[in-house]
Amino acid sequence: MTDPIPDPAAIRTGGCHCGAVRYVATGQAAHHALCHCSDCRRWSGAPMVGWIAFREEQLTVTGDTRSYASSALATRDFCGRCGTGLFYRNPTYLPGIVDIQSGTLDDQAGDPPGAHIMVKDRVGWLDDIDALPRFATYPGVD
Ligand SMILES: [Zn+2]
Ligand SMILES: [Zn+2]
Repeated sequence: MTDPIPDPAAIRTGGCHCGAVRYVATGQAAHHALCHCSDCRRWSGAPMVGWIAFREEQLTVTGDTRSYASSALATRDFCGRCGTGLFYRNPTYLPGIVDIQSGTLDDQAGDPPGAHIMVKDRVGWLDDIDALPRFATYPGVD
């Protein structure tokens, strides 16, 4: 993984799409990675998912989450109202760690990811996406 992200006094806030679940993560994150595994793809409906890892005691959550056993060893928590995926835990392989789905952070500029993981499952066309045409909103709008 990557080196720990500096700024141990950092306070990160985030939450789900509807606002019913909010969280605060304090201190130094262990790492931030973009996961390409097929479980994350299916879970999120997106080609990859960013995960930023903290120790469990660094995270405070308010609001109603639901938990889903996404494999024999792991659970994924999501907002019980809007369904936004929020937290991943695997006590066997990542004891004491909670991974936060980093797209739910309020500040998307502060903690750039440091690695791609599970690239064995990566969608092949991701190699070529930098060459795609770009639009500020949608084609033909601006
Ligand atoms: Zn929600
Ligand atoms: Zn994954």
